[in-house]
Amino acid sequence: MLILVGSRGREVEVGSGTFHCPVCDVQRPYKHRRVGRYFTLYFIPLFQIQKLAEYVECQACHHVFPLEVLHKKSFPDPRRILAEVGRDLESGMTIQQVQTKLMNTGLREDVASKVIEVTAGSQRKVCPRCGSLYAESARFCVKCGSPLYDA
Ligand SMILES: [Zn+2]
Ligand SMILES: [Zn+2]
Repeated sequence: MLILVGSRGREVEVGSGTFHCPVCDVQRPYKHRRVGRYFTLYFIPLFQIQKLAEYVECQACHHVFPLEVLHKKSFPDPRRILAEVGRDLESGMTIQQVQTKLMNTGLREDVASKVIEVTAGSQRKVCPRCGSLYAESARFCVKCGSPLYDA
């Protein structure tokens, strides 16, 4: 009786989730796949003999990346953050709103405060009516409409 043994490559999905895709530059769903060479008996894969490749595939753009892409904490370009903080403060957002927005992008609280200080200086204006804090350049409180004075 002839026993058919052999080996073949086989791709298995070992995980999935969301990650920051370096190509799309936003959070995307991914699939983590492993390609291995399997020992086969009558063409049925029995066990893996050799690991051939392991990669992460973005489900939006279908680019593939090495596994490390999952562990890489990606931060947006610091110059982009500073420019955006400047715009937000000029448009009249409160210090607290800008701080919350920064922390939502993944910055630690102390880093967020530092970014605001670098952008807006340490001078603050405070709303006499509701107590909201603003950067120096703000003129009116967006929350209650009151004019602002130097803190
Ligand atoms: Zn992508
Ligand atoms: Zn106010």
